[in-house]
Amino acid sequence: MTHHHEDPRVISLESEHYNARLMRREDQTSDLATFWVRYEGEPVPFEPGQYMTIGVYVDGKLVQRPYSVASAPAVAGEEGYEFYVRLVPVMRFTTLMWRLPVGHEMRMIGPKGKFLLEPDDDRTHLFVSTGTGIAPFISMIRQLLAAGKPRRTVVLHGASYADELGYRDLLEGWQRDRTYPVTYVPTVSRPADPRNTGWTGRTGRAEAVVQAVCRDLGLRPEKTVVYICGNPEMILNVEAILMDHGFPEFHVKKELYWPKGKTVPAPDGGAPARPALESPAAS
Ligand SMILES: Cc1cc2nc3c(=O)[nH]c(=O)nc-3n(C[C@H](O)[C@H](O)[C@H](O)COP(=O)(O)OP(=O)(O)OC[C@H]3O[C@@H](n4cnc5c(N)ncnc54)[C@H](O)[C@@H]3O)c2cc1C
Repeated sequence: MTHHHEDPRVISLESEHYNARLMRREDQTSDLATFWVRYEGEPVPFEPGQYMTIGVYVDGKLVQRPYSVASAPAVAGEEGYEFYVRLVPVMRFTTLMWRLPVGHEMRMIGPKGKFLLEPDDDRTHLFVSTGTGIAPFISMIRQLLAAGKPRRTVVLHGASYADELGYRDLLEGWQRDRTYPVTYVPTVSRPADPRNTGWTGRTGRAEAVVQAVCRDLGLRPEKTVVYICGNPEMILNVEAILMDHGFPEFHVKKELYWPKGKTVPAPDGGAPARPALESPAAS
């Protein structure tokens, strides 16, 4: 497995194209972290659900990737843009990001993307994600909360381990205090693993529980809009299950973080299950 500290590439300290700076970083596990990147000048407006592309120069070449913004637009000037990122053990961009010291300059462009809330949508919002795919939903809720226009929301978030459930405290807090009308449904896919000892919530992958969640919470196809983000296999599986249960296609919106069928090499350094290819956003 390629670890970030084994990545020997030298990240350029300076470039005339750098326009932003890494302001802050918080590690959740050894391979999940939140990064805040701020423009040197005025922030660029974005809509929740959109992504920015961030990068650094290595050997004169820009290495950059797109990331959904997790923060609300209003804080972009002060805190910057918040990104929730998983370290992928291949020597591409995230191994550079993990080695980047706070204060380092970066290049950031954007926003882009059409994974957006509909204006004045009074349907129940079902947000389904795995891993870092929860990021755009956090931005959406933060924005609706700030605007004083909450929407009835169900957040179904899948992870392998309970300690990977990013934004859990925030979501549990909103639900507990009724700050936001959200029902938070975390699920772990490896309940027997010692890392999940003590877990009492749902178990199984997001696609395995989504139908039960709809049934238990009384989510009716005609009154629900579904947003699915993250792993492409999960997205297409969840979509197929929902279609089978009467959700019209136009009630389902999707954001795929990489093309279906492309995985990284096996963690033990063995052959990949499928070819490991560059993402479409690769520089
Ligand atoms: C619109 C869009 C928004 C995105 N937003 C985020 C985000 O908010 N957070 C984030 O971590 N990633 C996000 N990604 C993925 C991100 O752009 C990178 O692909 C990822 O960080 C890995 O970068 P890399 O250069 O190390 O490897 P890459 O060469 O880009 O990817 C190699 C392989 O890693 C796997 N992979 C990629 N992203 C992930 C991931 N998030 N979790 C698990 N496996 C992954 C895939 O199998 C992919 O083929 C987004 C992608 C797109 C297209």
